Amino acid sequence: MFDHLPSHVAGLTCVLCGASFTDPMTWACPHCGPSSRMDVRYRPAPADVLARFASRPFDQFRYRELLPLPLGAELPPIQVGGSPVSSAARLAEWFGVAGAFVKDDGRNPSASTKDRPSAVAVVLAKAAGAERVVCASTGNAASSLACLAASMGIPATIFVPKRAPAPKLAQLRIFGARVLRVDADYDTTWELSQRIATRRPWFNRNCAVNPYLVEGKKTISLELADQLRERIPDWVAVSVGDGCTYAGVVKGLEEAHAVGLIPRVPRVLGVQAEGAQPLVRALDGDGVLHVEPAETVADSIAVGHPRNFVKALWAARRNGGRFVPVNDAAILEGMRQLAQLAGVFAEPAAAATVAGVREAVARGIIPANATVAVLVTGNGLKDTATALTAVDGPEDVPADEAAIEARLG
Ligand SMILES: *Cc1c(COP(=O)(O)O)cnc(C)c1O
Ligand SMILES: [Zn+2]
Repeated sequence: MFDHLPSHVAGLTCVLCGASFTDPMTWACPHCGPSSRMDVRYRPAPADVLARFASRPFDQFRYRELLPLPLGAELPPIQVGGSPVSSAARLAEWFGVAGAFVKDDGRNPSASTKDRPSAVAVVLAKAAGAERVVCASTGNAASSLACLAASMGIPATIFVPKRAPAPKLAQLRIFGARVLRVDADYDTTWELSQRIATRRPWFNRNCAVNPYLVEGKKTISLELADQLRERIPDWVAVSVGDGCTYAGVVKGLEEAHAVGLIPRVPRVLGVQAEGAQPLVRALDGDGVLHVEPAETVADSIAVGHPRNFVKALWAARRNGGRFVPVNDAAILEGMRQLAQLAGVFAEPAAAATVAGVREAVARGIIPANATVAVLVTGNGLKDTATALTAVDGPEDVPADEAAIEARLG
């Protein structure tokens, strides 16, 4: 992908043993093997880095000293990141905490946080002269890659398993991606796409092993820090599937603190669905991953085998972070409360975060005098079928004024 690291990047560090490498393609540690993950390390930021940030538009590329992109690389023409933060007093009251903020990252080009790593992917693909970008997914990663690739004029091929849901196929096809629907499940589809892509001059966005893409995810925290500064809350909550987002959120807060955007690093609450909680079990138990079947309405975090387990655990230990599980009924309740108390419509995986904060308060993990920020990682219009199960239907009335008046009382 690169011949050499950009000059502001110091190297790649193994999250298991701490060994450092300067070959940009060392993605697994030669000492620790294929389950290891690499973390991008930067040279110390220039003294005027905050002024540089402030001189740029408010989007994720504002923080380019902290992104692993070649200097002068072509950026997407559509805005990625720069999502709004609002304060949510009534939601805070429902949580039972002193204050709450909501960062609505569903307001991204393809309506999820996945646009952040996808934007990094297409910038790197373009800089490397890749003929095509490729990934295997039915979810937000795929629709996001299709969207960002279209914006840069790069062809995209997406492998989807047979069961791919119609709304997501619609997003993929309308963005012009070539969609190969494989007569198999997700795991087989993923393996096939890996083997086929590596034989071709294609850029592979299958995220968990590529150390650069996850750097895009941390920009959600850099922005939060930039938006709130000394009002940065005590806790930041985010939902967890593969664990890339969690690790990125922690890293972004640490870097925001290091460059002086915020006075302290908040603790990060990871929220998993009760039907898919390998990270909860590992962090509260022996620190070992036990792969489990995944069953939850929150499809974007229905992950029984988290591919970035080691990085998420590494980040949680450093941060003093905690994980909690929430069941599907609580997720639907979280979706209603977030919408009705804060005016934000979240897809189930993102609404799980709201349920998780409530659970963490009930367990005494988050104290009543704390402040919290909820990261909403995907828009509710992505999955209206599930949203409709969270609420009653409309009241059917005849086209008759008197009858409607009588109903209204
Ligand atoms: C992918 C995703 C997550 C979780 O991110 P991971 O890196 O898989 O842990 C959370 N919410 C939404 C909406 C997502 O698409
Ligand atoms: Zn190692």
